[in-house]
Amino acid sequence: MNLNKGDFIVSDLVKNLMYKRTNVYEQADEKLMTSIFEFAEDYKEFLDSSKTEREACEYVVNAAKEQGYQPFEFGMQLKPGDRIYYNNRGKNVYLIKIGEENIAKDGIRIVASHIDSPRIDLKQVPLYESDGIALGKTHYYGGLRKYQWTAIPLALHGVVVRMDGSVVPVKIGEDANTPAFYISDLLPHLSAKQNRKALSEAIGGEDLNIWFGNIPYQAAENKEDKTVKNNILKILNEQYRITEADFLSAELSLVPAFKAMDIGFDRALVGGYGHDDRVCSYAAQKAIFDEASDSHTVMVILADKEEIGSEGPTGMQSALFTDLVDALCDSFGVSSAAVRANSKCISADVTAAYDPNFPDVCEKENSVYLSCGAGMMKFTGARGKSGSNDADAEYVGFLRRLFDEYGVIWQTGELGKVDAGGGGTIAKYIANLNIDTVDLGVPVISMHSPYEVISKADLYEMYLAFRAFIQ
Ligand code: MN
Ligand code: MN
Repeated sequence: MNLNKGDFIVSDLVKNLMYKRTNVYEQADEKLMTSIFEFAEDYKEFLDSSKTEREACEYVVNAAKEQGYQPFEFGMQLKPGDRIYYNNRGKNVYLIKIGEENIAKDGIRIVASHIDSPRIDLKQVPLYESDGIALGKTHYYGGLRKYQWTAIPLALHGVVVRMDGSVVPVKIGEDANTPAFYISDLLPHLSAKQNRKALSEAIGGEDLNIWFGNIPYQAAENKEDKTVKNNILKILNEQYRITEADFLSAELSLVPAFKAMDIGFDRALVGGYGHDDRVCSYAAQKAIFDEASDSHTVMVILADKEEIGSEGPTGMQSALFTDLVDALCDSFGVSSAAVRANSKCISADVTAAYDPNFPDVCEKENSVYLSCGAGMMKFTGARGKSGSNDADAEYVGFLRRLFDEYGVIWQTGELGKVDAGGGGTIAKYIANLNIDTVDLGVPVISMHSPYEVISKADLYEMYLAFRAFIQ
């Protein structure tokens, strides 16, 4: 090899001094590839069956029962080897496995993710008719770009609580026998004025009206009763035995009617609704069920209401979390303060993957990339890390050693460039209770859109990371 003046040789030593991300697919052997692809198949089924927090909760509670988990009630005495679940109002679930170690010294290994996703909720008095069309008023849930939710098929999921207290489950638009719903947008031929608006203003909050029907109530005796709205009320009463007033005590959400699908010729990626944060939730519940080792006490939390600030009894700010920790402590006669001081938490939530279509919003060195493993965010927040727990270097160091030991591929990054925007997770609510916490999640493309994309490799590495953390 001829060397010119100024050239230098990068020795192996220098290579070892540099940090480089690892692409999972680049180094995966046949066995790992098979595991990655098989894992994604079950995940896609979960995603299709769990489009709301209620459905995800039901799926996980059923899985827990199959695994022999027992329902927890306050006052129960717990012992090592116990496996319990706590179903909080059908929207938030805790899975707890009591280990052999003394929790006052070893703490609890906590994995916390969320099972709610951005969507479009019906208002409490939704039904109205305009110019021969029956429509439904909505109020969107979570941060979404409103224009993305028009002109796509939507399914209606949720519950209606009747006056007598009976609960009607609703799931319409997911199979060929049921209709879908829709929010209209303008045709390009007539959108000249709309096109001049800012993207954020093109579709307003009160423009997200759902198309419910178009046939008037023909059997009505009076001409003024032959309305499309009346016909919809008749159909709702025939099929669900509900009245218009029953919407007052209903939770009905419009979610994309799409099914999860492989994306790309090589099928490396999965497209679907609600990867945020059901992808981490799925990996977390799978990890606690699959992990046989019994040394640590493990808690998996699948929270609700993360997308609207983690408020309320089913959100991560609920006292239920400390109540359950206290209940564990009471069983073993140890101090809750000691347990929390020695506990460790992975706040498992998705993060924004670097998108070559929109390179401007990311800083390349500190972005997470698709298929390069679970993405750690040492801090989140906005405007100078504001609102972030910013994990200790010591705790990140602990996880580095752990993941290295178990061969977990992970990467680190921030959610976009400094001052480009930002976001938060449930991490701070747990960290504020004196528990070491860091964010680790699957990188997502088009987050909060009706159809998000993740890498199968990242989903699998996330699962491996949880396994390493709890074993
Ligand atoms: Mn999230
Ligand atoms: Mn989110």
